Amino acid sequence: MSRRRQIYEGKAKILYEGPEPGTIIQYFKDDATAFNAQKKGTINGKGVLNNRISEHIFTLLGQIGIPTHFIRRLNMREQLVRQVEIIPVEVVVRNVAAGSISKRLGIEEGTPLPRTILEYYYKDDALGDPMITDEHIACFGWATQEEMHDVADMAIRINDFMCGLFAGVGIRLIDFKLEFGRLWDGDYSRIILADEISPDGCRLWDSTTNEKLDKDRFRRDLGGEVEAYQEVARRFGLLPEGSVSTVLDLDEHRKARGKKDS
Ligand code: C5P
Repeated sequence: MSRRRQIYEGKAKILYEGPEPGTIIQYFKDDATAFNAQKKGTINGKGVLNNRISEHIFTLLGQIGIPTHFIRRLNMREQLVRQVEIIPVEVVVRNVAAGSISKRLGIEEGTPLPRTILEYYYKDDALGDPMITDEHIACFGWATQEEMHDVADMAIRINDFMCGLFAGVGIRLIDFKLEFGRLWDGDYSRIILADEISPDGCRLWDSTTNEKLDKDRFRRDLGGEVEAYQEVARRFGLLPEGSVSTVLDLDEHRKARGKKDS
């Protein structure tokens, strides 16, 4: 790793210069943060699992015609991706009320939304990623209206596909976050999906038990983070055959803590 030039270190990933111009190596760390890095920890093996899960989802999205930055997985913790100019807007897609929308609008967690909601947040840690609208994005030139049209269109298609993908393995896709980037080709650019899709940036609930299989286990001190991430990977067939379902382990965690968490 030391032979490569580090471009950027984020909360859960490090970006290195890739082997060819226009490529980047995305390294997945075990570090976990929440509440704008006020809470910090490590989830052992998370980077390896997120690398595999994100590879799986990005590959399938590519197959249904969503342009993505993903090129190929290089090893346990790294993937080769196309270099893009990241749009400084986090796109949150919500199917069921949970997290900040429940808090802000007083909607009970788990309430299905009558229609899918797209929300935009300005990517700025110092400001705590404030929620913004299309108007702010256009006004401050973070993306053009045409680009945001493509972003919204892709976010909805990605949501439709991912809802089905997760439903097929007994998981409800409650909400998730996406990031997009500009891929330049001479003077022209187009919008492609960037970053990662993993239990770090999705709310994933078991379809039958509503057990949380995502980073809320870390955010809310529920325990069993590694087991939850492993369970998502296992259901997608990304873990070696014969690995045991860990839902029981999650139940054990809940019992040990003596409280209900779902
Ligand atoms: O916290 P909130 O309810 O707004 O999060 C909505 C979704 O977006 C969750 O799945 C969360 O994991 C994801 N998210 C994220 N990164 C952020 C904010 C939210 O991955 N900075």
